[in-house]
Amino acid sequence: MQIAFIGLGNMGGHMAANLVKAGHGVRAFDLDAGAVARVAEQGASAASSVADAVQGAQIVITMLPAGPHVLRVCFGEDGVAAHAAPGALFVDCSTIAVTHAREAGEKAAAAGFSFVDAPVSGGVAAAEAGTLTFMAGGSEADFARAQPVLAAMGKNILHAGGVGNGQAAKIANNMLLGISMIATSEAFALAEKLGLDAQTFYDISSKASGQCWSMTSYCPAPGPVATSPANRDYQPGFAVAMMLKDLKLSQEAARAVGFETPLGRDAEAIYDALSKDGHAGMDFSGVIRRIKGEI
Ligand code: NAD
Repeated sequence: MQIAFIGLGNMGGHMAANLVKAGHGVRAFDLDAGAVARVAEQGASAASSVADAVQGAQIVITMLPAGPHVLRVCFGEDGVAAHAAPGALFVDCSTIAVTHAREAGEKAAAAGFSFVDAPVSGGVAAAEAGTLTFMAGGSEADFARAQPVLAAMGKNILHAGGVGNGQAAKIANNMLLGISMIATSEAFALAEKLGLDAQTFYDISSKASGQCWSMTSYCPAPGPVATSPANRDYQPGFAVAMMLKDLKLSQEAARAVGFETPLGRDAEAIYDALSKDGHAGMDFSGVIRRIKGEI
């Protein structure tokens, strides 16, 4: 399959390399020439522009910072839609607003293209290992077209429904993650105040009804889970800035449908304060340090 890949940053660079490894022809473009050169070293062809990247591509993948970038790259002047082959499938793997994904879907359809939103769960390590989880929104037929290509970059490829539903699943999931990380941190901090050390509380709560992913896979307290960022001074992992981006998207989406998520709103405020206080680059599990009054 001939694939155009646009956006070769921390995630996209590895994802494009995995497509090459799976035997696809990849023409890669990024505004950063260094990023293009790194992917070209892995066997992709270096493209000099969006127009150059999409020549002959049946599938165009974007992995960009946010919704406005995706709309500009796909539908702006000299963008993907102006140069792609008729009937090409656009697959956007960036995390963007549900409204932006649906706008992209409508614009693609009006111009004779197909669109699937396919945001990912899993960070840079999963992008490199090809073990991402994709949550895809699009028609059955478009999902079936995207599925084998996504499978070269991930291990779980899930269909969430129509266009925009992939983003909806992603931000609802990450709102839950943000809330559960704060809740887990409060529980460990309270247990410590009451005289339990982190390991003792972990051994009990991980076998009781408080058990959750934030505790057993990514424990915010140093000690119990060897691979947690807590054991490497909260180096990310998944940074506060990225969690804040997803929580803001969840609140935007909730407002757009007139719905209240009080704990999601509180989680956004907590991560926003951490970010403003200079901790945007810390792993999001470092919120426990704020709860303990250490930062
Ligand atoms: P990044 O900032 O490292 O990469 C984005 C790339 O897009 C950059 O290389 C930038 O030069 C390029 N770019 C921007 N505008 C462009 C344009 N007009 N044309 C061509 N290239 C352009 O970001 P990332 O960490 O790779 O994340 C990408 C997306 O994936 C984001 O939406 C992010 O929220 C999402 N995401 C990231 C992670 C993570 O752990 N990093 C995890 C899940 C989802």
